[in-house]
Amino acid sequence: MQKLYEGKSKIVYKGEDDKTCIISYKDTATAGNGAKKEDLPGKGRLNAAISNLIFEYLAENGVKTHLVKVLSETSVLAKIAEIVQVEVIVRNVAAGSFSKKYGVPEGTSLKNTVVEFCLKSDELGDPMINDCQLTAIGIATQEELDELKSAALKIDSLLTSLFMKAGIRLIDYKLEFGKADGEIILCDEISPDSCRLWDADTDKKLDKDRFRRDMGGVIEGYEEVLKRLKEALGK
Ligand code: 5GP
Repeated sequence: MQKLYEGKSKIVYKGEDDKTCIISYKDTATAGNGAKKEDLPGKGRLNAAISNLIFEYLAENGVKTHLVKVLSETSVLAKIAEIVQVEVIVRNVAAGSFSKKYGVPEGTSLKNTVVEFCLKSDELGDPMINDCQLTAIGIATQEELDELKSAALKIDSLLTSLFMKAGIRLIDYKLEFGKADGEIILCDEISPDSCRLWDADTDKKLDKDRFRRDMGGVIEGYEEVLKRLKEALGK
């Protein structure tokens, strides 16, 4: 396979034609923009399985995504898209950088869903950026940003109810979008690497914060998420 790009947690290869690519999930875990790095056997398989279940559920509910088909336990065929250089962060409960920045204790439910934009730049540490700044530097148009926001809110209502059924609190997460055939589609992954997921009864963390905060039991947390999502989806 011809490698097109290697990122921190995935490798992208050439696909079946010039409209598709193969995305392969790695076992590598990184945090702090790559400062902390470790191999966690099984992580790639678990993230692929979780993200595929979520992308299929979203597609069934009218969300356009890059997923074409699942190829193996760790790889998918995806539409090639021109990635919008914006990370869309969605928050239902205060945690992480939001709690630090605004002094809101972790675990505080937010009165409305928060959608934030960050510039997708490892070099700059993905800084938060507003609509006005994004349009000013030509990263996206206001229409595109409005579309990202409404897609994020639709995804949030679908995901919140899915995770609730799985006995999991969907705290916050990151989405990435791209443009393909003139449409904005959901890209990248939705997995415990990119979401904060807490057990609904105990608030036990089942996501990458276990790795970021040296809590141990990372793979066990991801396994629990997969098991519960399968049950919630009847799969
Ligand atoms: P925070 O802003 O609190 O660091 O992150 C908010 C949410 O977005 C968390 O669920 C976190 O996992 C996710 N997130 C933010 N930036 C990134 C990123 O660069 N990569 C990944 N995988 N997730 C991110």
